[in-house]
Amino acid sequence: MKRLDQLDYCHTYADLGASLSSRVNPTPLDDPYLIHANHRLAKTLGIDIESVGDEILTQLLSGQGILDSWSPIAMKYTGHQFGQYNPDLGDGRGLLLTEFVDDKGEKWDFHLKGSGQTPYSRGADGRAVIRSSVREYLISAAMDGLGIPTTCALALSGAKTPIQREEIESAATLLRIAPSHVRFGHFEYLFYSGQPAELKALADYIIHWHMPDLEDSHDKYAAFFQEVTKRTASMIAHWQAYGFCHGVMNTDNMSILGLTFDYGPFAFLDTYLSKHICNHSDYSGRYAFHQQPGIGQWNLSALGYALSSLIDSKQIETSLQGYAPQIQAQYRRLMRARFGLQSKHENDPELINSCLELMEKLGLDFHYTLRVLSETSPNDWAETTLDSTLNKPEFITWLAGYKKRVLLDYSNDQERQTLMQRVNPKYILRTHLAQEAIEQVENGEFDILETWLKVLANPFVEHACPSHWSLPPRNDQKGICLSCSS
Ligand code: AMP
Ligand code: MG
Repeated sequence: MKRLDQLDYCHTYADLGASLSSRVNPTPLDDPYLIHANHRLAKTLGIDIESVGDEILTQLLSGQGILDSWSPIAMKYTGHQFGQYNPDLGDGRGLLLTEFVDDKGEKWDFHLKGSGQTPYSRGADGRAVIRSSVREYLISAAMDGLGIPTTCALALSGAKTPIQREEIESAATLLRIAPSHVRFGHFEYLFYSGQPAELKALADYIIHWHMPDLEDSHDKYAAFFQEVTKRTASMIAHWQAYGFCHGVMNTDNMSILGLTFDYGPFAFLDTYLSKHICNHSDYSGRYAFHQQPGIGQWNLSALGYALSSLIDSKQIETSLQGYAPQIQAQYRRLMRARFGLQSKHENDPELINSCLELMEKLGLDFHYTLRVLSETSPNDWAETTLDSTLNKPEFITWLAGYKKRVLLDYSNDQERQTLMQRVNPKYILRTHLAQEAIEQVENGEFDILETWLKVLANPFVEHACPSHWSLPPRNDQKGICLSCSS
């Protein structure tokens, strides 16, 4: 473990050249305070975050100071927002404070979100508020706990500085950690602004640091695009299998490493609604839940186009054609596991799909339903014994078929239950629960985040926490509106 001031800092991204970033220091916030630091994450990164002390940590998080070895920059990128190309994007409210290389030789970014204005702020305040920062802090841990590739959040601070949103809110900053913050939009920027040498250098850079196995490939840029396609397919397959709606799948919010990125109005499905739109500014439903796999492909096409000076169009097309089968294969594998299906039977996809359709029709909760099935024996799936929220004649009929199917795979039902519990979370960061945590943090109850992080790190086992955390929302807890403005 190394102290914060002893990490092996480097600035490899800034070394790529001046056109890719601007040197900017954070703008200090007033009367900052530490809300939480993720000690478990710090430990896995080999960082001794305690020895720096809360006071200095708070200064670093609030922009009141930086370490001498840091050299903060705002990254320039562009991207397609809701299908339209926008050349004016970039880190408008976050800074790449520094990078460091850990003891295993892996490089990590420290990115401070909410750190003030930059040349890419487009007149906005460069700030983040407690509400959205607590959401990002918790969802980063939730995704990781579910095994979904994601950026991480190391620490969270608040401040008295008032921030104007729909109403006045308090400022916050979040220290985000990821191997890289390079987005599809970085490549689009270099392509549309006519900088092919820089674009090639950026691809070489990502390959060197993050995909070193590709370095000796016969055609490394084609292999690079194929790798991005594969990672994106895997990430989105996980989203679909775990009911995660991102909400703003613009190409500037797509990580080149296939990490879930830039959390905004995201939501996990409560009731299974295949066409759910979690972003209330998404009027056309472009980013609705069921559209996500297709949008992933659209975004990869936009990236492929931006890489056309490096890769033959036929090779781009070949990779893109591989995307749908990859996502489908992974999604099926994850869903088979969630339903506890081991051997392969022709009708399995139909069995799973008919359950999802029934959940939608009957208004059943996606995660809760699967968790109940993983905690009960088929003998309990009858009218007299079934959980009251699932006790509907059509679902009981489906369960009769499902019971026959699982009997083919297990002589001991306990084995099925154990396997299913490992992949069906008991706890999910539902929108109303995140909202409850936000209100507690706003009231100064910061310890709640420690409990949440413990639960989310392993949501598949029972925890000592409020019992309603494992339940679907009541009707009056549904329908919280989320937009990009945060
Ligand atoms: P997002 O919807 O969060 O992905 O943001 C899209 C673009 O707007 C990015 O370039 C952000 O940096 C920028 N942006 C979002 N919110 C703010 C803000 N409060 N101040 C400055 N820039 C922002
Ligand atoms: Mg963004």
